[in-house]
Amino acid sequence: MIELEGLTKRYGEKVAVNNLTFTVRPGIVTGFLGPNGAGKSTTMRMLLGLDRPTAGDVRIDGKHYDQLKDPLTYIGALLDAKAMHGGRSAFNHLLCLAQSNGIPRKRVYQVLDTVGLTAVAKKKAKGFSLGMGQRLGIAGALLGDPRILMFDEPVNGLDPEGIHWIRNLMKSLAAQGRTVFVSSHLMSEMALTADHLVVIGQGRLLADTSMADFITQNSRSYVRIRTPQRERLLDVLHGAGVTVVETGNGSLEVDGSKSEHIGELAAQHQIVLHELSPQQASLEDAFMQLTAESVEYHAHSDTPAAPPPQPWGDGWKGN
Ligand code: ADP
Ligand code: MG
Repeated sequence: MIELEGLTKRYGEKVAVNNLTFTVRPGIVTGFLGPNGAGKSTTMRMLLGLDRPTAGDVRIDGKHYDQLKDPLTYIGALLDAKAMHGGRSAFNHLLCLAQSNGIPRKRVYQVLDTVGLTAVAKKKAKGFSLGMGQRLGIAGALLGDPRILMFDEPVNGLDPEGIHWIRNLMKSLAAQGRTVFVSSHLMSEMALTADHLVVIGQGRLLADTSMADFITQNSRSYVRIRTPQRERLLDVLHGAGVTVVETGNGSLEVDGSKSEHIGELAAQHQIVLHELSPQQASLEDAFMQLTAESVEYHAHSDTPAAPPPQPWGDGWKGN
């Protein structure tokens, strides 16, 4: 269990983490979501005692990180992959970590096997691809067989096979009763992995909810209609007590009705339809709305040629 209580971090004028209070529970995957610059990595660094909170507190099973004896056996973490590993081989890197945490040598072979790096264990880690570096970082996190695991943007740099592998790994770790806390700036990633969501924007807590509740509350379903006989269809639908939204692009949208019902009404009145399609608003859209106010770097709205801000898109770089 990880408990944050009013956790705050200021860098000069900048409030990177703003009064965060939430609990990360065992047995489930908790997704930590927010646009780039939201304060996810700063929060995770404070958890590991790598950054000192300006105010508030964070505890791991009731203790501060620096009070833990052999910390790798309590909590394993993958932080920013760029920050690690020099000229040592993957094996020696892990052996070093193991020896300083009272972990037996044979565990190094086990975790190398788990992450699929056995064949390159004697190679220097600095020659590794980003994906291999992520795998080595994950091996380090698993080394002490900890009850709590924390991954900061773990799928960055992984190929589709690697992404699939890490999703399953996180789920199986949670199924073993461990606490799994994983950050991402991509809703699409979290939707496939997390059971619970903590969303932040500009350091502030925006949501702390189960994934299932988030989906129910935010996935609006509606029917999209296109017709060359727009006015007639509007009359018919209004007459039947159906509420219609006229979108700017010429289509009509109907909430809370079945496409069958609308299709039958149109047929009864011999109205031609060019489109009649059930739609589901994406979770990505819901997150964009939730965090819109807190996105740090907006595209300028007064330059019409500029693309809209895409805080959850792959190519969007906030900082
Ligand atoms: P995220 O991981 O969600 O992308 P970060 O925790 O890296 O966000 O950053 C949160 C905010 O704090 C950003 O605005 C970032 O520029 C700022 N920040 C992070 N580390 C430092 C630092 N060492 N000094 C000054 N500002 C920082
Ligand atoms: Mg980060």
